[in-house]
Amino acid sequence: MENFRKLGLNEDIIKALEESKFEVPSEIQEKTIPLVLQGKDVIAGSATGSGKTLAFGAGILQNTQRYGGIQSLILTPTRELAEQITKALKHFSKHNQLNIIPIYGGVSITKQIRELEKAEIVVGTPGRILDHLQRQTIDLSLVKILVLDEADRMLDMGFIDDVDKIITQCPKKRQTLLFSATISQDIAVLAKKYLQHPVEVSAESYIETAKLKQVYYDTPSYMKFSLLVHLLNGEKSGLVMVFCNTRRNADFVEKNLNLNGIEATAIHGGLTQDKRNRVLAHFHSQSVHVLVCTDVAARGLDIKGVSHIYNYDLPPSSKDYIHRIGRTARAGKEGKAISLVSERDYENFNHVLEDHSLEIFAEHTPNVEKVQIKIFDRGRGDSPRRSGNRSGGYGERSGGYGGRTGGYGSRPSSSGQGHRPRRSTGVGGSNNRSSGRSAPSSSRSEGYQKKRRY
Ligand code: AMP
Repeated sequence: MENFRKLGLNEDIIKALEESKFEVPSEIQEKTIPLVLQGKDVIAGSATGSGKTLAFGAGILQNTQRYGGIQSLILTPTRELAEQITKALKHFSKHNQLNIIPIYGGVSITKQIRELEKAEIVVGTPGRILDHLQRQTIDLSLVKILVLDEADRMLDMGFIDDVDKIITQCPKKRQTLLFSATISQDIAVLAKKYLQHPVEVSAESYIETAKLKQVYYDTPSYMKFSLLVHLLNGEKSGLVMVFCNTRRNADFVEKNLNLNGIEATAIHGGLTQDKRNRVLAHFHSQSVHVLVCTDVAARGLDIKGVSHIYNYDLPPSSKDYIHRIGRTARAGKEGKAISLVSERDYENFNHVLEDHSLEIFAEHTPNVEKVQIKIFDRGRGDSPRRSGNRSGGYGERSGGYGGRTGGYGSRPSSSGQGHRPRRSTGVGGSNNRSSGRSAPSSSRSEGYQKKRRY
């Protein structure tokens, strides 16, 4: 505990940390907490799993007065992250009893309006905060500390205008803390606009790469789902997360896993907040072992005990890939990240491999039996639309279904034949670590990201 005390934290917080068995500050906490307590603006390069919540939260809790109005605003890209941060902060404030309120869309606004009247710390997503500003049901004039959490993601998701409008409603004289997994040019511009003489810090996350095995299987698209079933059946895994690039694919994978006797549940932005919370609670309680999800829904979630991450669709960038694999191999536990790479993923996989620090090994793709696949119509209940072993069908298209999903650049023809990646990573070749890397296609569209629905 001495290590936390040395950072300048008061006894209320120290007591809560002690009760949580937090003994040593993480690197980002050690670097950031003193700066926050000194009132400095901070740019922190740190990802989920680094202990960033307490890094910005400890100083906020220490500097907030009860009944003093909204003194801190924490902006996050997703509802789940807002919930998670609120929960963590409430936990650490149990000895000073602050009113910490999550504000996000998809739930009743009336209750939020009531809660905002007594809030001292607000953790929210930009859209709903803006809604409250327009209704004049939130008063940001007393904000002393503003946090932009996962700022890179907020930019990716196109929240920049909302964030801008919200910041103009905060006092000019305030402390601003910007947390981002990556410090890109865009983030630097954002920081320049909103922060004053910021101190930059960065830290590794808790993910232990030595404990994380990363592999990929090269598979034709029409066998991808069957391979997933084969691998899930074969591994004695703990909690598994299967990542898809779209809601549609997530629904497809969830339903067909259940059809094939593997209990799975899906979480994505298309579900009501209530349902998302229920799904997460089930997964947390470990009564469901396979969570099929899209990136945004899973972003920043702190779920303990995830042993395997599957990329059913390859994400569009190494940044997204790293966020995904960061769900496993945490806090000293072993983990495995498995990517199922079919022809439609080659371009994305190329982008992932641009990060030369990633060590992804090719695995021999086993011969697997084709499993039953059904196609379910959306919005018409769960009745199957078509069934059977239709080759190249729905989710087998790996992100290609449902419009432009995952569609970077020109698509190979739908024959699925002969489209190897424009690189020499050894896909389909030996069991060695993928080696050569080729430049990504220039056809990748940045603006497109904003339109994706997760
Ligand atoms: P975060 O990056 O804030 O989402 O934190 C990731 C995980 O690390 C959460 O489960 C925290 O409870 C845990 N954690 C954060 N800081 C510490 C610490 N100093 N000691 C032990 N666990 C921590």
